[in-house]
Amino acid sequence: MPITVLDHPLAIDLLTVLRNVETEPPKFRQHAERLGYLLVAEAMSDMPTDDVEINTPLEATIGTVLHRPVVAVAVLRAGLGLLQSVLTLVPDAAIGFAGVQRNEETAEPMEYYTKFPTLEGARVLILEPMLATGGSLSWAIDKVKENGAKDITAVCVVVAPEGVARIESNHPDVRIVAASLDRELNPSYYIAPGLGDMGDRLFGTV
Ligand code: URA
Repeated sequence: MPITVLDHPLAIDLLTVLRNVETEPPKFRQHAERLGYLLVAEAMSDMPTDDVEINTPLEATIGTVLHRPVVAVAVLRAGLGLLQSVLTLVPDAAIGFAGVQRNEETAEPMEYYTKFPTLEGARVLILEPMLATGGSLSWAIDKVKENGAKDITAVCVVVAPEGVARIESNHPDVRIVAASLDRELNPSYYIAPGLGDMGDRLFGTV
């Protein structure tokens, strides 16, 4: 599956605010949500749709609606920064959570919590803003697949080439949508130039 990098001045403008170390959590959250709208719209650009009969004030016509269900799975904590974007655009989306902590020495994922709605037949958007090694996202994709998901798109803010390669190798059926493909992972497994720790930037932790 291809990776789609948003090539849009508005997305780049919003991402620049997120990258800036001087952006404080309230503004960071606001801009993450705004960027999330563009990312989610792109992640749904290939959604299956259904025709419905409706009446305009003038006449009967055929409308088109998104094929439901839509599910968003937020990878904790950073995925919470994109959750409101999904809920605003698709208020009836069902929400799952994937709690995974990065082992700071190996950068491998350690699960601590998962809770999913029904995933069969759904378009599943996995909200994983920082695709670094790909360990957490690959783990989350395994989990949603074990629970019946087949139509999966990862919604990311910044991705590293290493993480993209891992997902393409482990899960070639999963599409990745991102605002930027950055240069590399640094020796501490942070994405460079990146934006730092997304969870800390969102919630003011250190
Ligand atoms: N997670 C983050 O929040 N930032 C990175 O750069 C890598 C992983």
